[in-house]
Amino acid sequence: MTETATMNKPIKASEINPKFKYELSKVHGNKKILQCFQCGTYTSDCPIAKFSDNYRPRQIIRMAQLGLKERVLRSETLWLCASCFTCTDRCPQDIEVAIIIRVLRNLAAEQGIVPLVFKEQTLSILKSGYAYKIPELRKKKE
Ligand code: SF4
Repeated sequence: MTETATMNKPIKASEINPKFKYELSKVHGNKKILQCFQCGTYTSDCPIAKFSDNYRPRQIIRMAQLGLKERVLRSETLWLCASCFTCTDRCPQDIEVAIIIRVLRNLAAEQGIVPLVFKEQTLSILKSGYAYKIPELRKKKE
C-alpha cells in the first residue's frame, strides 16, 4: 500500500490511543501540541511540503492529536522533515512543530521503525565516519 493510501485509510476506533496526545504533550518542547487548530500556516511555508505531494506536517500533528500512534510512527513522511524549523518560526500558536516531529521520530526509532536509508547511513558513519559509502574509484584517486 502506498503512503498516500495508508494515510487516507479510514480510521478504526481500535487504532485510536486517546492518551497519546497527553503523553506527547508532557515531553519537553511538545507542550503546545494540543493547541494546533490546523490553520495550515506552517505547512504552507514548509520547504519540503512545496516539493512533496505527500508531506504535510499538519497531517502528522493531526494524527498525533487524534491518537493514531501506530499510523503516525509508521508514516514514511515522518522522515522527510529537514529540521529547518521554518514551521516553528511561522506557527501563530508558537507550536514547536519540528521538535514534535523529532520526538515522534525518536519514538518510532525506539520501536525499530527507521527507514533503511537512515539505518545504512548510521552504520556507514559508525564504520567509516562517512554518511555515504565512498566509491572505490574515488578512494584510488586520493
Ligand atoms: S522543520 Fe520540517 S516540518 Fe518544519 S518547515 Fe522544516 S521541513 Fe517542514
